[in-house]
Amino acid sequence: SAEAAIIDGKTIASTIRAEIKGEVDALRAKHGKVPGLAVVIVGDRKDSQTYVRMKRKACEEAGIESFHAELPASASEAEVLATVRKFNADARVHGILVQLPLPKGMNEERVLAEISLEKDVDGFHPENIGKLAMKGHEPLFAPCTPKGCVELLKRNGTVLSGKNAVVVGRSNIVGMPAAMLLMKEDCTVTVVHSKTRDPKRICREADVIVAACGSAEMVKKDWVKKGAVIIDVGTNSVDDKTKKAGYRLVGDVDFAEVKKVASAITPVPGGVGPMTIAMLLSNCLDSGKRAIAKA
Ligand code: NDP
Repeated sequence: SAEAAIIDGKTIASTIRAEIKGEVDALRAKHGKVPGLAVVIVGDRKDSQTYVRMKRKACEEAGIESFHAELPASASEAEVLATVRKFNADARVHGILVQLPLPKGMNEERVLAEISLEKDVDGFHPENIGKLAMKGHEPLFAPCTPKGCVELLKRNGTVLSGKNAVVVGRSNIVGMPAAMLLMKEDCTVTVVHSKTRDPKRICREADVIVAACGSAEMVKKDWVKKGAVIIDVGTNSVDDKTKKAGYRLVGDVDFAEVKKVASAITPVPGGVGPMTIAMLLSNCLDSGKRAIAKA
C-alpha cells in the first residue's frame, strides 16, 4: 500500500510568508505604514538568541519593521516590565514577543500578562488563552506553534469537522492550545499526557494526531490507525556519530514506520518548525491591519 504524503511545512511556510509580504506591501502602499514587531530577550541563552535572530530576519523579509530590546541576565523583573510597557506605548509596534524562558527567579506569567492584549502576538496572555477556551469567543491571537499545526492540516486539505483528534501533550504553549484550536474546528478532542493510561489505545482511535510530548519517536506505528493524519511538533536531538554536529533532530513520532500507515505526515525537521515563525508573522500582520485601519 502507498506511503503517507509528506506535509511539507517548509514550502507551505514560505508560501505563507510570501502571502504576508504581499499584504504588508499593500498596507504600505495604501497607508504608508507597516506592521511592527518588538522582541524582548533577557540573558544570553544561545538557543534563544538563534530563535530571536530567525524571527527578526523573517520580519525583515516580509517587510515587517522589527524592534529589539536586549537585557542582561542580571536585569530585574521591573526592568523587563518597563521594557514591555515602553513597547505597549509605541504606536509603531503592533506585536510584542518576550522570548522564553526568562532567567530563573523571574515571574514569566507576570511579564506575559503585562503585554497589551492588542499586541500579544504569541497569544500567551491569560485573556487570549481564556477566549481560546470559550465557545462563542475568539482570541485576538492564537499561539503560533499550535496555529501552525492547524494551518498545516487545512492546507493539506484535511477535513476536521467531526473527526477524532488526539493531542499528545498538554503544555501551555503547544498541547493545550492545540486541543482548543482543534475543538474550535469541530474535532472531538482527546488530550493524552504523562498520567494517561494506555495512550496507544487512545491514539489508535484518532483520525488526526498532534504529537507534542517532547519524547523522541514515542508515537509508534501500532499507535496509528490506517489513514490517520500526523502532525509531529517534537524536536528532540539524539546522538548520531554519523552527523557532523554529532546529533540529529527527530520528532515525537517514529516517522519511518508511521509513514507506512498514515495518509499524511509532517517531517522533522521541515514540518511544524518553519510554521511557527510564519504564524508569528501572520499574527503581526493581523495586529498591524487592525491598528492601522483604526488610526
Ligand atoms: P513540555 O515538556 O512543556 O510538555 C510535554 C507534554 O507532554 C506534557 O504535557 C507532558 O505531560 C506530556 N508528556 C511527556 N511525556 C509523556 C509521555 N511519555 N506520555 C504522554 N505524555 C507525555 O513540552 P512542549 O509542549 O514545550 O514541547 C513539546 C515538543 O514540541 C518538544 O519536543 C519541543 O521541543 C517541541 N516544540 C517545537 C516547537 C516548534 O517546532 N516550533 C515549538 C515548541 C515546542 P504532563 O503535563 O503530564 O507532564
